[in-house]
Amino acid sequence: MRHPIFAANWKMNQAPADAKAFVKQFMASYPRQQDREVLFFPPALAVSVVVEAVRDRPDIAVGVQNIHWEDAGAFTGENSAPMSRAAGARYVLVGHSERRHVFGETEDQTNKKVLAAFRAGLTPMICVGETLAQREAGETNTVIIRQLRAAVATLAPNQIASCMVAYEPVWAIGTGKTATPDDAAHAHGALRGELKTLTVDRAEAVVILYGGSVNRGNAGVLLAAPQVDGLLVGGASLEADGWSGLVRT
Ligand code: PEP
Repeated sequence: MRHPIFAANWKMNQAPADAKAFVKQFMASYPRQQDREVLFFPPALAVSVVVEAVRDRPDIAVGVQNIHWEDAGAFTGENSAPMSRAAGARYVLVGHSERRHVFGETEDQTNKKVLAAFRAGLTPMICVGETLAQREAGETNTVIIRQLRAAVATLAPNQIASCMVAYEPVWAIGTGKTATPDDAAHAHGALRGELKTLTVDRAEAVVILYGGSVNRGNAGVLLAAPQVDGLLVGGASLEADGWSGLVRT
């Protein structure tokens, strides 16, 4: 049995001092666990302080919310994969729905970011998800499989097997609407099936998380759904005691 992963996407919240205070409070009520892992995705400015704060906790790791696909250069306002790794990040979100829909990130760019992540030694967490219109048109599986294939295009099967994937229906992110455990199981099953081909039968190695309005009340049933290996949480990860309760699910 795989250990569940609980990932906190803080989005554009938690300045460095707030992040430090949050992690201190969280760790006080969440002693080291052997049977689960917690990932924090703070804003880039707070990555170093969170890395420092969790230094003695092998059950907690840190990621960045975004990278540029180039390793360095004239890209004002951007952060690269190598500098994220140097700051102590081990993971990176790629293709989050806010990147795709607010910032216009294309499928080609998600691929370039996944390649940059591997060059720098970061594990990409590839986010895929359908819009409400796509869901209502019965296109969920087509869309999420297309997004997955595009993100890992040109990668070797063993690299694909070391990615993480997050199924995050766009209509469920930050809306209070959550996929049912059945919806999640179907989408995760479709992704796992596609990963079998892409990884030449190493699909079980890939962690697939569910995200979209997860909270303390629904975390248990979603985590119990077939093929759900963990949870990616936005809003409900922003309060330390609530997050500490959620990760004990
Ligand atoms: C997210 O940002 O990845 C997310 C799932 O947000 P929320 O939990 O707030 O829906």
